[in-house]
Amino acid sequence: MRMTLSRRSANGLLLGGALLWTATVVATTAMAETALPRASAVPGGVVMIDLPATAGAGADTPPRVSFEGNRVMLLRHGTGWRAIVGIPLSQAPGEVQLEIERDGRRETRQLQIVGKQYTTQYLKVPPSQVDLAPADLARVETEQTRIRAALATFSETPPATLVLRAPVRGPRSSSFGSRRFFNQQPRNPHSGMDIAAPTGTPVYAPADGEVVDTGDYFFNGKSVFIDHGQGLVTLYCHLSEIAVPTGTRVRSGERIGAVGATGRVTGPHLHWGVALNRVLVDPALFLPVATAP
Ligand SMILES: [Zn+2]
Repeated sequence: MRMTLSRRSANGLLLGGALLWTATVVATTAMAETALPRASAVPGGVVMIDLPATAGAGADTPPRVSFEGNRVMLLRHGTGWRAIVGIPLSQAPGEVQLEIERDGRRETRQLQIVGKQYTTQYLKVPPSQVDLAPADLARVETEQTRIRAALATFSETPPATLVLRAPVRGPRSSSFGSRRFFNQQPRNPHSGMDIAAPTGTPVYAPADGEVVDTGDYFFNGKSVFIDHGQGLVTLYCHLSEIAVPTGTRVRSGERIGAVGATGRVTGPHLHWGVALNRVLVDPALFLPVATAP
């Protein structure tokens, strides 16, 4: 249920004319604190919850926050803490619970998730990429396990910033979350942002991090996964070239590969995914204010 990246959705296709990207500006007042993404309490969005300090002896001990059993990013906020929660695209609108453990006590906080109408896309690809041969299906299932493991990475050091640089210059699709039909067959929704650029265009790390996996996948093509800390993991798919082996520490703006058309695509572009607490959320929420393409 919570896993939104699947063999069906892990793809990136760019449709002509669907490239308009807009954003609203929300000023943050987090002085000297981590810059934040935009909050959006919708499926595929991000919710931020303040957890004020408690008076108990464990006031300096960070609480442990989880959502659907997955650990949630926690940042220092004043004398207390702030939880940054990724909401799965598959989340039904309504009330959801955040579990908080601190000072040996468990409590829950209710979050209200509102519905969002995403668009629908109809895409045409070779039939062998929709109705898979048994060998391809077996391969995809093995790859899914590995992709889930990479997205499950949780390292303790928090990211320096949650406002990310766009990894590639180019027109961005607004297709995150769109319901997809491949050759008229329904498949999982689009779990990332597509950025159109010619093959060979450099792809840059959007923030400091560590490369936790790379591979060449049936649907995603050549891919890089970067761990930025506290469950923020980004991925880059359909690359023509991978420039950073697993284990490399990368700095924001460092070249990690090049745009390509590997895997299931209709043309060269970058598919960019952003995960929090193991769920893929809308990358647009992490970018600075949009500039006109
Ligand atoms: Zn895509």
